[in-house]
Amino acid sequence: MGLLEAVVFDVDGTLVDSERDGHRLAFNAAFEEAGLTDRWDVATYGRLLRITGGTRRLAAWFEAKGAPAGHARELATRLHRRKTEIMRQLIEDGHVRARPGVGQLLDDLDAEGVQVHVATTGARAWVEPLLDRVFGPRFRTVVTGTEVTELKPSPAAYLRVLELAGCSPERTVAVEDSANGVRAAVGAGLRCVAAYNDYTRDDDLSSAVLVADGFTDPALVAWFHQRLPRRWRGRP
Ligand SMILES: [Mg+2]
Repeated sequence: MGLLEAVVFDVDGTLVDSERDGHRLAFNAAFEEAGLTDRWDVATYGRLLRITGGTRRLAAWFEAKGAPAGHARELATRLHRRKTEIMRQLIEDGHVRARPGVGQLLDDLDAEGVQVHVATTGARAWVEPLLDRVFGPRFRTVVTGTEVTELKPSPAAYLRVLELAGCSPERTVAVEDSANGVRAAVGAGLRCVAAYNDYTRDDDLSSAVLVADGFTDPALVAWFHQRLPRRWRGRP
């Protein structure tokens, strides 16, 4: 069991409960502003989350409703731009919060000198204000979908973090909430801890080294504490 040098976090659904009460509301507000009757309820949005990337999700939705592919893409691009602005406002207004237990884990990692990084395929335009507002300046490397356009489950975002941060893959672990995220991390040669949420509890997370019911799950807390360099030794 190697000690940890770095932890790389996913954002959506992992660090923050952003999907149901953040992105979903922003998409619905963008539909409304555009005069469209489309609305995504909690269950519908859960199914759509299998499509990564907001623009792709929108385009697939309009195509499934019979829109020609070119028109669906154009509409999706336009709506997504506005949706991102609305999401930024929701973040500024404090609607998106850290998942329970995340703050404690980040503090423990910080106290032990373990580096923390972010690998997300969300847009930098909302990821950066979100991380700033909810967590402050603690992440050393933040790779977003604005720089790495291959969305998860592609390992590209994780590979870029490893390249920029220079941490060793053997002593780095990824934390994800979904099947696509776990595939991305494992594809980059990383071990992955899965902390599922209500949307992802039925995902296939079997290639993770640990599957936990969020960050307050004692199994997750123990997993990290056993791999922290110094301070947790000898604690009860
Ligand atoms: Mg996620």
